Amino acid sequence: MQADSRKISRRRFLRESSVAVGGLSILTLAEPAGMRGAPAESSPVGAIVLLGPPGAGKSVQGRRLAERHAIPVISTGDLLRDHVRRGTKLGLEADSYMKTGKLVPDSLMTPILEERLSQPDCARGFILDGYPRTLAQAEGLDVLLKGKGLTPHIILLDVPDERVLKLLSGRRVCPRCQRVYNIYYQPSKREGLCDADGSALVQRPDDQEEVIRHRLETYHKETQAAIDYYSRQNRLIRINGDQTPDQVATEIESKLALPSHRP
Ligand code: ADP
Repeated sequence: MQADSRKISRRRFLRESSVAVGGLSILTLAEPAGMRGAPAESSPVGAIVLLGPPGAGKSVQGRRLAERHAIPVISTGDLLRDHVRRGTKLGLEADSYMKTGKLVPDSLMTPILEERLSQPDCARGFILDGYPRTLAQAEGLDVLLKGKGLTPHIILLDVPDERVLKLLSGRRVCPRCQRVYNIYYQPSKREGLCDADGSALVQRPDDQEEVIRHRLETYHKETQAAIDYYSRQNRLIRINGDQTPDQVATEIESKLALPSHRP
């Protein structure tokens, strides 16, 4: 059971969990490199940076923003995992940091991100999920975006730690069909069993309370400096992340005040 649960990627787990908790139905995994399309011909959107603790719903909101504004979501976790899978030199080096839950050094992270952002689909703008995570990354991103002539919009999904703990520690996943439940917010009909196929639900090892606390600590220690940096400059758009995904999306759109690119 443990071995099965480990096979589910954490990113995918988090995405599907957010869906289960929030009741959304559409899931998309990272778009393969070969399918990256040319940008739609319309005005630039800029860069939208999503900050917030693990489990705050960044990937769900990222996908919604991507659909609405026709720009890609760039998740640095996904980018790194892609390099690891392909066995690139950078990926091989990054792997040891990722395995131990440490931040990948900027000497590896920066070239990977820059390469992705230079793709044609990013020309009108992009959404960043998982970057920046440190003050140095926030400062570096400003320089990079200035060079591209893109305006950054910095969004912070504020979610209290107690809620994050419940969101992550309450998650259960079916090892067979990968359906995700939450014992507090979206329990299965029969306790501990998948509604779809009756398999025994499992908890991911990194969603155990102690590990979640550690992930939250890293967030507060490292990423808070980046948040403070934006806050000092009055650039932070604070969103109450402790609402339904629909309410969060509405608040983001009203505070961002960007025109929609959807017909
Ligand atoms: P989580 O948000 O739960 O840490 P991610 O998928 O975003 O999951 O990231 C997985 C791993 O990738 C992180 O633990 C870290 O090792 C690495 N990583 C992702 N983004 C960054 C970043 N901006 N800087 C350094 N390392 C990163």
